[in-house]
Amino acid sequence: MVNQPSPAYDVIVIGAGSIGVPAAYYLSCAGLRTLVIDSMPSVGQSSNKKAIGGIRATHSDPAKIRLCLRSIEIFSTWKEIYGDDIEWSQSGYSFVAYRPQEEKTLKELLAVQKPFGLDIDWLEKESLLQVIPDLNPDSLMGGTFSPRDGNASPLLAVHAYYRQALAKGAVFHFSEHVTGIEMDGSKVRRVITDKGRYSSKVVINAAGPNARTIGEMIHMEIPVTPDCHEAAITEPVAHFLDPMVVDIRPAPGSSNYYFYQHCTGQIIFCITPSPNIWGDQTEETSVFLPMVAKRMIGILPRLKNIRVRRTWRGLYPMTPDGFPIVGWSKEAEGLLLAVGMCGQGFMLGPGLGELLCRMVTGQLFETDAEILQILSPYRVFAGQEKLK
Ligand SMILES: Cc1cc2nc3c(=O)[nH]c(=O)nc-3n(C[C@H](O)[C@H](O)[C@H](O)COP(=O)(O)OP(=O)(O)OC[C@H]3O[C@@H](n4cnc5c(N)ncnc54)[C@H](O)[C@@H]3O)c2cc1C
Repeated sequence: MVNQPSPAYDVIVIGAGSIGVPAAYYLSCAGLRTLVIDSMPSVGQSSNKKAIGGIRATHSDPAKIRLCLRSIEIFSTWKEIYGDDIEWSQSGYSFVAYRPQEEKTLKELLAVQKPFGLDIDWLEKESLLQVIPDLNPDSLMGGTFSPRDGNASPLLAVHAYYRQALAKGAVFHFSEHVTGIEMDGSKVRRVITDKGRYSSKVVINAAGPNARTIGEMIHMEIPVTPDCHEAAITEPVAHFLDPMVVDIRPAPGSSNYYFYQHCTGQIIFCITPSPNIWGDQTEETSVFLPMVAKRMIGILPRLKNIRVRRTWRGLYPMTPDGFPIVGWSKEAEGLLLAVGMCGQGFMLGPGLGELLCRMVTGQLFETDAEILQILSPYRVFAGQEKLK
């Protein structure tokens, strides 16, 4: 087998998830022979399908703001351009404040967000209650509202990208596990799997929670650690709630939690455990539902009689500072990292997929330099993302 010629590609993408599939589409559109390899039997089977579908550009840093502004343009026009319904709904986001400290944090962030032209404002209590009439008014101070943010289906979106990528000539190998990367001196040359070996001078690590293992293949330390998060969906009920509601107050056992009503009527929700639950366990716990339900009913009492249909648990690919890692490896020439998407890989996918294509083709925009500096694999991981 070692002497047999290995099929050659311009780019090999490891991982057919939230990042790898959009990237494969844009690379194929650019005329590059692209191979995507995934251990799972089809697209989006790892973290992608565990996401609850939230999409916002209202972040706290220029990199994610720019990438997600572009993602929103793509998600919101997808049906018009490509014909598939990815359940895009532009129902907005609202970060609510019940204490002065959250009001202060959210108002300070507006100063970062506004210069990017983001449609976001602080609404005082009475105005916010007009947007979300069922919010508990006791101690409510107000909140931000960004009507252009929204949500879509992660699985429908990744399948829509997959079909477009296939049509452009991308090749997908499923149920195939990447086990090694072969080097020629300091340069990437081949990807080795349990089924074969494939040549390429460019390899993109888009392996999500498993990104660190891919780094170890070339002795590169990639600080991405899987972090367990649970989510749930209720029965469908008549429409009563528009934006994604986010409460960033910490409480025993959890930090923020967020929920929205899907266009088909179900409430979909998530909570961030505190401290983090590191590891790759994807079995649901008995702790999640009582904890999140209590908090949600506290701010939206109307939810108290709704029935939960299903819970699930997935992994955030976490970095030490809560920002993604995007950039070329210095240890292995030709290895491009697109990892550590934390809790925002679905919303970053389209914008980042385009950026990865520009990096490979060497056609960067002027604004990309700032994005790549913020997300550099070689930054000092000292800061902390404010709205993780
Ligand atoms: C409960 C929950 C809620 C979330 N909600 C949101 C949300 O509302 N909005 C949002 O934007 N994000 C959300 N996220 C986060 C989002 O799911 C992730 O950030 C995103 O899916 C990561 O994308 P990825 O492409 O890096 O990884 P993945 O989508 O996991 O793709 C990585 C792929 O690499 C493959 N792979 C790994 N190692 C190998 C190997 N050795 N060989 C071959 N294939 C390999 C895997 O099989 C996988 O398919 C949520 C996550 C969870 C768990």
